[in-house]
Amino acid sequence: MSRPPDDGALPPGTTGVVTVDLDRLRANWCALSKLVAPAVCAAVVKADAYGLGAGRCIPALAGAGCETFFVATLAEAAAARRLAPDAAIYVLDGVLPGAAPALAAIGAIPVLSSQHEIRAYSEFAHASGSRPAAALHVCSGLNRLGLTTGDVEALTLAPERLGGLDVRLVMSHLAAADNADDPMNKAQLAVFERLRALLPAARASLSASDGMMLGKRFHFDLARPGYALYGGQPSRSFRAPVAPVVSVHARILQIRDVPAGASVGYSGIWRAERPSRIATIAAGYADGIPRASSASNGTPGGKVAIGGHPAPIVGRVSMDLITVDVTELPDGLTQPGAWVELIGSKITLEEAGAAAGTIGYEILTRLGRRFHRIYQGGA
Ligand SMILES: *Cc1c(COP(=O)(O)O)cnc(C)c1O
Repeated sequence: MSRPPDDGALPPGTTGVVTVDLDRLRANWCALSKLVAPAVCAAVVKADAYGLGAGRCIPALAGAGCETFFVATLAEAAAARRLAPDAAIYVLDGVLPGAAPALAAIGAIPVLSSQHEIRAYSEFAHASGSRPAAALHVCSGLNRLGLTTGDVEALTLAPERLGGLDVRLVMSHLAAADNADDPMNKAQLAVFERLRALLPAARASLSASDGMMLGKRFHFDLARPGYALYGGQPSRSFRAPVAPVVSVHARILQIRDVPAGASVGYSGIWRAERPSRIATIAAGYADGIPRASSASNGTPGGKVAIGGHPAPIVGRVSMDLITVDVTELPDGLTQPGAWVELIGSKITLEEAGAAAGTIGYEILTRLGRRFHRIYQGGA
């Protein structure tokens, strides 16, 4: 998986390559489906399938048997509809002003999070003489989106407000499911069970990738993994049964020897403490390597892997380039034109995130848009 790209298959001048293994994506979905069965496993494909390309990921997942997709926006739903004509497509951002007809026209299912949205979608239903499908999002403690307990109680007193809608799903979202010991998990489970019982009977969904690892009680009827599908490890407490889907490689442009005391890169934040060999690599923050993974003396940053050996970033990450210390590496590995792993079997999404003070999710969704993309498998 993390083999460097095959030069013969690349356009001339390629500086970096993002490789997406669609067979792994499908295998991950199948493994997560098994984990939650008999509950159904959906696929969250918002943000262009977490940056990996909805145009390739959605057909691969549909081919593996996935029939339910979650996106954030109407535009993402329209794209998903073209790729998966028969799937259920839920829109997490709900109904924005004026968007109801377009949502219904593509058969997307908005996730309604407020009384205002319920009113707007019901008015559209009434005006169009239809009974469109909708999902209800209740807030169980995240305090981001979702009907409050007060909103749900108000609906129980005026159930006709939901009369025009075909409520297909009642869902909520966990705040701290990446840590199995966090007391919020059980507290949110209890709130969800209570609010759900007050609403019309419909399928229920509580867990994203991390919540799926918390056991059966968190699975309900439908699980909503995103990050784990793409090979991320969402939980600090459990290993998800998934394998990496994405690897990123970039080329070494130049090797130079610098004397002790020389600084490397913008603002000279790193100085060689010994005679050092520096490799300059054709990848920078414009390619998704966070500038926060820069390193000064005493403050380590990110790492790359060359021929399986780790090499630390030294100095500032710039727009198009990083510099790494390869003093300890065998000469044969560090030639101009050689490939360096930025993400893959040696450098995980989680490690790359931690090195930049962020999470693997942010690394994944910002990966190399000017890099060449290779999709493997998926047919
Ligand atoms: C993004 C999102 C998910 C998927 O989360 P992952 O952690 O990537 O699995 C599920 N549900 C909601 C409401 C989301 O916003």
